[in-house]
Amino acid sequence: MGWTELKTEVLAGGGCRIEGKLPPGVAARSTAGPGAGGAGAVFFSSGGRRVRVPLGTDGPAVLTVGADGSATLSCNGETMEGRVEAVGLHCPRQAFVTVSESCVYECAYCPVPQCRGPRKTVEEIVDLVGEIADSVDAIALTSGVAVSIEEEEEYVCRVVAALRRFDLPIGVSIFPAPTTPARLHALGVTEVKFNLEAATPELFAAHCPGLPYEAVWNALAASVPLFGRGHVFSNVIVGLGETDDELDACVDRLVGLGVVPVLRPLNPVAGCRGRARPTAKRLSRAARHLRSAFERAELDPSVALSMCGACTGCDLAAWRDL
Ligand code: SF4
Ligand code: SF4
Repeated sequence: MGWTELKTEVLAGGGCRIEGKLPPGVAARSTAGPGAGGAGAVFFSSGGRRVRVPLGTDGPAVLTVGADGSATLSCNGETMEGRVEAVGLHCPRQAFVTVSESCVYECAYCPVPQCRGPRKTVEEIVDLVGEIADSVDAIALTSGVAVSIEEEEEYVCRVVAALRRFDLPIGVSIFPAPTTPARLHALGVTEVKFNLEAATPELFAAHCPGLPYEAVWNALAASVPLFGRGHVFSNVIVGLGETDDELDACVDRLVGLGVVPVLRPLNPVAGCRGRARPTAKRLSRAARHLRSAFERAELDPSVALSMCGACTGCDLAAWRDL
């Protein structure tokens, strides 16, 4: 088993036991992404590749950590040497901030509405980023929808304007209004991620009541000419009930637009609690299809500067992990 199989097993497993004492600064708690509100995670890297390992005893992985950050990751009988990485905010090498830790929508797979957390002030966010700006490569922003999609866009634009002082690439992932791509581009945002989440409109309607699926497609299509091929992303969850053919069709359509799909294994939380995680075999097949789609379209996803496209901790990244 090599890196691909080890990472796939960890992603499909969903938990890890730690042996040894974690050095300071390596444990991340998340208020966004698949681990929001969970027990936290550490990032294991080996040979320039990375996997986010959720802390918890219910998975098959074991991470043995030395005081100097050296680490051995084992899963289902296979072992790899590497290191645990220091975390910026939320993930390594980035100041990744959740602006509003609550949401008026209730997408079934999403833990953010249950977090019922606060909205950070612009000043708080500037202070958070300022504390680590010298040690990260990018700033990333995500947010729930505290009041309305339009109001969130407005607020996040204020945050972006205040963060430009750090002269770092800025990635933004929020639910888009029709004006969002152009407004973010005009403010100097480098990359955007607008998440389809579901591979089909039927699954989206079933899991994301009240949200418009086509609005996400429209925002993605409008974003590529502004931000460039390979700098626009969309999460697509694997495991919401889509068939492999439906997943591949969604991937092909995204890649055809110049958008990089981020294939995110279902984390069975919130309204998806009790659902099965996708198997390692299914994740590998989907990643192989994604890689061939990139090759056909001559789309290079390795140019990513921020957010999940640069981090790749939670997904089998077709350009880095296969
Ligand atoms: S819009 Fe849906 S996915 Fe986004 S934060 Fe709200 S509930 Fe979660
Ligand atoms: S892949 Fe994305 S959601 Fe996962 S830790 Fe990295 S930045 Fe966060």
